Amino acid sequence: MRFRLLGSGSSGNATLVESYGVRILIDAGLGPRELAERLESAGVDPASIALVFLSHEHQDHVRGAASFSKKWGVRLCGSRGTYAAAGLGAEEIAGYDVLEPGVARPVGALSVLGIPVPHDAAGPLAFVVQGDGCSLAHATDFGHVSRGVADGFRDCDAVLIESNYDPVMLRDGPYPWSVKERILGSRGHLSNEDVARYLTRDLGEACRMVLLAHISQNNNHPELVRMTAETALRRRGRTEVRLELASADGTGWIDVAAADGGASRGPRQLRLW
Ligand SMILES: [Zn+2]
Ligand SMILES: [Zn+2]
Repeated sequence: MRFRLLGSGSSGNATLVESYGVRILIDAGLGPRELAERLESAGVDPASIALVFLSHEHQDHVRGAASFSKKWGVRLCGSRGTYAAAGLGAEEIAGYDVLEPGVARPVGALSVLGIPVPHDAAGPLAFVVQGDGCSLAHATDFGHVSRGVADGFRDCDAVLIESNYDPVMLRDGPYPWSVKERILGSRGHLSNEDVARYLTRDLGEACRMVLLAHISQNNNHPELVRMTAETALRRRGRTEVRLELASADGTGWIDVAAADGGASRGPRQLRLW
Protein backbone atom coordinates (compact mmCIF):
# COMPACT_ATOMS: atom_id res chain seq x y z
CA MET A 1 0.00 0.00 0.00
CA ARG A 2 1.20 3.51 -0.72
CA PHE A 3 -0.19 7.03 -0.36
CA ARG A 4 0.48 10.53 -1.50
CA LEU A 5 -0.84 13.91 -0.38
CA LEU A 6 -1.99 16.09 -3.27
CA GLY A 7 -2.45 19.09 -1.00
CA SER A 8 -2.32 19.81 2.73
CA GLY A 9 -3.55 22.68 4.91
CA SER A 10 -6.00 25.53 4.55
CA SER A 11 -5.36 25.84 0.81
CA GLY A 12 -6.83 22.36 0.27
CA ASN A 13 -6.49 18.77 1.42
CA ALA A 14 -6.56 15.54 -0.57
CA THR A 15 -4.83 12.22 0.06
CA LEU A 16 -4.52 9.48 -2.54
CA VAL A 17 -4.20 5.90 -1.23
CA GLU A 18 -3.46 2.96 -3.52
CA SER A 19 -3.09 -0.79 -3.15
CA TYR A 20 -3.11 -3.43 -5.89
CA GLY A 21 -4.54 -0.96 -8.41
CA VAL A 22 -7.42 0.14 -6.11
CA ARG A 23 -7.33 3.86 -5.47
CA ILE A 24 -9.28 6.05 -3.09
CA LEU A 25 -9.13 9.71 -2.15
CA ILE A 26 -9.52 11.04 1.37
CA ASP A 27 -10.95 14.55 1.00
CA ALA A 28 -11.24 16.64 -2.13
CA GLY A 29 -10.45 20.11 -0.86
CA LEU A 30 -8.73 21.33 -4.03
CA GLY A 31 -10.70 22.81 -6.91
CA PRO A 32 -11.82 20.09 -9.38
CA ARG A 33 -9.37 21.09 -12.13
CA GLU A 34 -6.45 21.35 -9.71
CA LEU A 35 -7.37 18.00 -8.21
CA ALA A 36 -7.49 16.30 -11.62
CA GLU A 37 -4.16 17.91 -12.62
CA ARG A 38 -2.41 16.79 -9.44
CA LEU A 39 -3.77 13.26 -9.89
CA GLU A 40 -2.52 13.21 -13.47
CA SER A 41 0.91 14.45 -12.43
CA ALA A 42 0.97 11.54 -9.95
CA GLY A 43 0.30 9.26 -12.95
CA VAL A 44 -3.29 8.56 -11.91
CA ASP A 45 -6.38 8.80 -14.14
CA PRO A 46 -9.04 10.70 -12.12
CA ALA A 47 -11.72 8.31 -13.41
CA SER A 48 -9.82 5.40 -11.82
CA ILE A 49 -10.61 6.61 -8.26
CA ALA A 50 -12.96 4.04 -6.69
CA LEU A 51 -14.43 6.26 -3.96
CA VAL A 52 -13.80 9.66 -2.34
CA PHE A 53 -14.00 9.63 1.47
CA LEU A 54 -14.81 12.96 3.12
CA SER A 55 -13.58 13.75 6.64
CA HIS A 56 -15.91 16.74 7.20
CA GLU A 57 -17.65 19.60 5.45
CA HIS A 58 -15.08 22.43 5.80
CA GLN A 59 -14.18 23.91 2.42
CA ASP A 60 -10.50 22.97 2.57
CA HIS A 61 -11.71 19.31 2.60
CA VAL A 62 -14.73 19.32 0.24
CA ARG A 63 -14.15 22.25 -2.14
CA GLY A 64 -13.87 20.08 -5.27
CA ALA A 65 -15.85 17.03 -4.08
CA ALA A 66 -19.21 17.59 -5.82
CA SER A 67 -17.83 18.67 -9.19
CA PHE A 68 -15.14 15.95 -9.14
CA SER A 69 -17.82 13.35 -8.36
CA LYS A 70 -20.05 14.56 -11.16
CA LYS A 71 -17.32 14.98 -13.77
CA TRP A 72 -15.56 11.64 -13.22
CA GLY A 73 -18.54 9.58 -12.04
CA VAL A 74 -16.95 8.83 -8.66
CA ARG A 75 -19.15 8.31 -5.58
CA LEU A 76 -18.54 10.14 -2.30
CA CYS A 77 -18.56 8.54 1.15
CA GLY A 78 -18.65 10.00 4.65
CA SER A 79 -20.86 10.65 7.64
CA ARG A 80 -24.53 11.68 7.45
CA GLY A 81 -23.53 14.99 9.06
CA THR A 82 -20.97 15.72 6.34
CA TYR A 83 -23.55 14.99 3.62
CA ALA A 84 -26.05 17.43 5.11
CA ALA A 85 -23.61 20.16 6.16
CA ALA A 86 -21.69 20.16 2.87
CA GLY A 87 -24.99 20.60 1.00
CA LEU A 88 -24.25 17.57 -1.16
CA GLY A 89 -27.95 16.68 -1.36
CA ALA A 90 -28.53 19.84 -3.36
CA GLU A 91 -25.60 19.14 -5.71
CA GLU A 92 -25.53 16.83 -8.69
CA ILE A 93 -23.11 14.05 -7.68
CA ALA A 94 -22.50 10.46 -8.76
CA GLY A 95 -23.79 9.27 -5.36
CA TYR A 96 -23.11 9.31 -1.63
CA ASP A 97 -22.53 6.31 0.64
CA VAL A 98 -22.96 6.83 4.37
CA LEU A 99 -20.01 5.57 6.40
CA GLU A 100 -21.17 4.49 9.85
CA PRO A 101 -18.42 5.10 12.43
CA GLY A 102 -16.79 1.85 13.49
CA VAL A 103 -18.09 -0.14 10.51
CA ALA A 104 -15.35 -0.89 7.97
CA ARG A 105 -16.18 -0.14 4.35
CA PRO A 106 -14.48 -2.47 1.84
CA VAL A 107 -13.25 -0.92 -1.43
CA GLY A 108 -11.65 -3.71 -3.48
CA ALA A 109 -8.38 -4.66 -1.78
CA LEU A 110 -8.76 -1.80 0.72
CA SER A 111 -10.98 -1.37 3.74
CA VAL A 112 -11.73 1.98 5.39
CA LEU A 113 -12.90 2.54 8.95
CA GLY A 114 -14.29 5.87 10.17
CA ILE A 115 -13.53 7.07 13.71
CA PRO A 116 -15.36 10.14 15.13
CA VAL A 117 -13.05 13.04 16.02
CA PRO A 118 -13.61 16.16 18.17
CA HIS A 119 -13.80 19.04 15.65
CA ASP A 120 -16.29 21.86 15.14
CA ALA A 121 -18.04 20.19 12.21
CA ALA A 122 -21.23 18.14 11.69
CA GLY A 123 -19.90 14.57 11.83
CA PRO A 124 -16.13 14.70 11.41
CA LEU A 125 -14.18 11.46 10.94
CA ALA A 126 -10.63 10.19 11.05
CA PHE A 127 -9.90 7.08 8.97
CA VAL A 128 -7.94 3.87 9.23
CA VAL A 129 -7.19 2.43 5.78
CA GLN A 130 -6.16 -1.22 5.64
CA GLY A 131 -4.74 -3.05 2.68
CA ASP A 132 -1.97 -5.43 1.72
CA GLY A 133 -1.53 -6.50 5.38
CA CYS A 134 -0.76 -3.00 6.63
CA SER A 135 -2.65 0.06 7.77
CA LEU A 136 -2.58 3.84 7.53
CA ALA A 137 -4.17 6.13 10.14
CA HIS A 138 -5.40 9.47 8.77
CA ALA A 139 -6.53 12.37 10.95
CA THR A 140 -6.50 16.09 10.21
CA ASP A 141 -8.64 18.75 11.90
CA PHE A 142 -9.29 17.72 15.49
CA GLY A 143 -8.89 19.53 18.79
CA HIS A 144 -7.53 16.76 20.99
CA VAL A 145 -6.53 13.12 20.71
CA SER A 146 -9.60 11.33 22.07
CA ARG A 147 -9.45 7.82 23.51
CA GLY A 148 -11.24 6.58 20.36
CA VAL A 149 -8.53 8.00 18.09
CA ALA A 150 -5.63 6.81 20.29
CA ASP A 151 -7.06 3.27 20.46
CA GLY A 152 -8.15 3.18 16.81
CA PHE A 153 -4.66 4.23 15.62
CA ARG A 154 -2.65 1.98 17.96
CA ASP A 155 -1.99 -0.91 15.56
CA CYS A 156 -1.34 1.23 12.49
CA ASP A 157 1.94 1.00 10.56
CA ALA A 158 1.83 4.64 9.45
CA VAL A 159 0.12 7.65 11.03
CA LEU A 160 -0.81 10.85 9.21
CA ILE A 161 -1.73 13.45 11.83
CA GLU A 162 -2.08 17.21 11.77
CA SER A 163 0.47 19.41 13.56
CA ASN A 164 -1.46 22.59 12.91
CA TYR A 165 -0.08 25.39 15.06
CA ASP A 166 2.50 26.59 17.52
CA PRO A 167 0.56 28.10 20.47
CA VAL A 168 2.89 31.12 20.85
CA MET A 169 2.78 31.95 17.14
CA LEU A 170 -1.01 31.57 17.14
CA ARG A 171 -1.51 33.79 20.20
CA ASP A 172 0.84 36.49 18.85
CA GLY A 173 -0.41 36.12 15.26
CA PRO A 174 -2.82 38.14 13.10
CA TYR A 175 -6.07 36.16 13.59
CA PRO A 176 -9.03 37.72 15.47
CA TRP A 177 -9.37 36.39 19.02
CA SER A 178 -12.59 34.48 18.19
CA VAL A 179 -10.73 32.47 15.53
CA LYS A 180 -7.76 31.89 17.85
CA GLU A 181 -10.16 30.59 20.51
CA ARG A 182 -11.75 28.24 17.98
CA ILE A 183 -8.38 26.82 16.87
CA LEU A 184 -7.14 26.45 20.46
CA GLY A 185 -10.38 24.80 21.65
CA SER A 186 -10.88 21.09 22.34
CA ARG A 187 -12.83 20.85 19.04
CA GLY A 188 -10.35 22.97 17.06
CA HIS A 189 -6.94 21.86 15.82
CA LEU A 190 -3.89 20.01 17.20
CA SER A 191 -0.83 22.01 18.20
CA ASN A 192 2.76 20.80 17.87
CA GLU A 193 2.67 20.08 21.62
CA ASP A 194 -0.53 18.03 21.29
CA VAL A 195 1.24 15.91 18.67
CA ALA A 196 4.31 15.54 20.91
CA ARG A 197 2.04 14.32 23.72
CA TYR A 198 0.37 11.83 21.33
CA LEU A 199 3.77 10.54 20.13
CA THR A 200 4.99 10.18 23.71
CA ARG A 201 1.90 8.55 25.21
CA ASP A 202 -0.10 6.83 22.52
CA LEU A 203 1.93 6.02 19.40
CA GLY A 204 1.62 2.26 18.82
CA GLU A 205 4.65 -0.04 18.74
CA ALA A 206 3.85 -1.09 15.14
CA CYS A 207 4.16 2.44 13.76
CA ARG A 208 7.21 3.00 11.54
CA MET A 209 6.20 6.24 9.85
CA VAL A 210 4.62 9.51 11.00
CA LEU A 211 3.57 12.17 8.52
CA LEU A 212 2.78 15.59 10.00
CA ALA A 213 0.22 17.44 7.90
CA HIS A 214 -2.20 20.41 7.77
CA ILE A 215 0.63 22.67 9.02
CA SER A 216 -0.55 26.29 9.31
CA GLN A 217 1.38 28.75 7.16
CA ASN A 218 0.48 31.66 9.48
CA ASN A 219 0.78 30.08 12.91
CA ASN A 220 3.54 27.53 12.57
CA HIS A 221 6.96 26.85 11.14
CA PRO A 222 8.16 23.55 9.64
CA GLU A 223 11.33 23.59 11.77
CA LEU A 224 9.29 23.92 14.97
CA VAL A 225 7.00 21.11 13.83
CA ARG A 226 9.90 18.77 13.11
CA MET A 227 11.89 19.67 16.22
CA THR A 228 8.94 19.20 18.61
CA ALA A 229 8.00 15.81 17.13
CA GLU A 230 11.62 14.59 16.90
CA THR A 231 12.23 15.46 20.53
CA ALA A 232 9.12 13.51 21.58
CA LEU A 233 10.14 10.44 19.55
CA ARG A 234 13.70 10.56 20.88
CA ARG A 235 12.42 10.82 24.44
CA ARG A 236 10.45 7.63 23.87
CA GLY A 237 13.45 5.91 22.24
CA ARG A 238 11.50 5.63 18.98
CA THR A 239 14.35 6.56 16.66
CA GLU A 240 13.24 3.88 14.17
CA VAL A 241 10.14 5.92 13.31
CA ARG A 242 10.52 7.85 10.06
CA LEU A 243 9.22 11.40 10.37
CA GLU A 244 8.01 13.41 7.37
CA LEU A 245 6.30 16.77 6.93
CA ALA A 246 3.71 17.58 4.26
CA SER A 247 4.00 20.92 2.47
CA ALA A 248 0.93 22.78 1.18
CA ASP A 249 1.54 21.13 -2.22
CA GLY A 250 1.54 17.67 -0.64
CA THR A 251 4.15 14.92 -0.85
CA GLY A 252 5.57 12.34 -3.20
CA TRP A 253 4.54 8.67 -2.91
CA ILE A 254 5.08 7.16 0.54
CA ASP A 255 5.12 3.38 0.97
CA VAL A 256 3.40 1.82 3.97
CA ALA A 257 4.91 -1.45 5.09
CA ALA A 258 3.97 -3.61 8.06
CA ALA A 259 6.61 -3.68 10.83
CA ASP A 260 6.77 -7.49 10.64
CA GLY A 261 6.21 -7.67 6.90
CA GLY A 262 2.51 -8.31 7.58
CA ALA A 263 3.25 -11.89 8.66
CA SER A 264 1.16 -11.73 11.82
CA ARG A 265 -1.83 -9.88 10.42
CA GLY A 266 -3.91 -9.76 7.21
CA PRO A 267 -2.34 -12.58 5.21
CA ARG A 268 -2.37 -15.04 8.11
CA GLN A 269 -6.01 -14.23 8.83
CA LEU A 270 -6.82 -14.82 5.20
CA ARG A 271 -5.13 -18.22 5.30
CA LEU A 272 -7.01 -19.18 8.47
CA TRP A 273 -10.36 -18.32 7.01
ZN1 LIG B 1 -8.86 21.61 7.45
ZN1 LIG C 1 -11.96 21.59 9.69
